[in-house]
Amino acid sequence: MTATVYKSRLIEKIPRVADIVTFRFERPAGYEYRAGQWFNIDFIGPEGQPLNHHFSHSSSPTEPWLEFTTRLRDSEFKRVLRELPIGTEVDLEAPFGSFVLVPGEDPVAFLAGGIGITCVRSILRDCGDEPSRAGNRSMTLLFANRSEDAIPFRDELVEIETKVPGLRVVHVLSRAGDGWSGRRGHIDEDLVESELPKASQWRYYVSGPPSFVGAMREMLAGHGIDPNRVTMERFEGYE
Ligand SMILES: Cc1cc2nc3c(=O)[nH]c(=O)nc-3n(C[C@H](O)[C@H](O)[C@H](O)COP(=O)(O)OP(=O)(O)OC[C@H]3O[C@@H](n4cnc5c(N)ncnc54)[C@H](O)[C@@H]3O)c2cc1C
Repeated sequence: MTATVYKSRLIEKIPRVADIVTFRFERPAGYEYRAGQWFNIDFIGPEGQPLNHHFSHSSSPTEPWLEFTTRLRDSEFKRVLRELPIGTEVDLEAPFGSFVLVPGEDPVAFLAGGIGITCVRSILRDCGDEPSRAGNRSMTLLFANRSEDAIPFRDELVEIETKVPGLRVVHVLSRAGDGWSGRRGHIDEDLVESELPKASQWRYYVSGPPSFVGAMREMLAGHGIDPNRVTMERFEGYE
């Protein structure tokens, strides 16, 4: 698929958790992409300033709209985005990237750090809607967040788990409250060892802020995982 620029419009803003919001756009005719790929968005701010950013699709190609999901921080882009009127016209250039599920039999592990869930949500929604995409593979999502109230797409992941027979979602919280009965701490070698049996035989998809992706790359290398089995998406712009 060759990247093309499409005209689109903002149709909805969907608050998720904490400062995380999904921005939903019309899907223009002919806009094709693979689950997990990213796009470039361009629009004109209220003072006539051109603004643009890269985002993974958090939507799946099976859905009739396009979405990205982001943390609303205090950058100029995000300040304008927060207030962007419904109906605003944007240019979307897509598709880009190779964070896509490769066909095969190998079990698949997704290691997502916080907002890094966006491209994984795209892939898992796609598998939920089109079961043939997952095939008979085992898939495990290790999803790292700070606390229970900061887990984006938590309910939807439960729903997708019921649709994709081989999928397991394991949450790992670094600052869990007292009532949390799940995993605590970080995604580390011990967790990989216990959740991903025969770890060297899995294919890995790692996504999130550069610090998370770097830490996961080192951890997997330290665990003897062949780097050729690891696909990464670094969300540049975060720490
Ligand atoms: C392939 C890809 C997919 C992404 N997907 C998502 C997503 O799904 N959700 C999401 O929230 N964010 C995603 N990002 C990150 C996103 O583009 C923003 O950078 C991020 O949301 C922070 O934006 P900001 O406006 O808060 O900070 P910004 O003002 O954009 O950035 C903060 C700092 O990072 C620097 N910076 C910005 N972009 C880059 C870059 N490409 N390379 C190096 N330095 C840079 C800036 O110069 C600045 O110093 C993705 C990035 C990439 C490259």
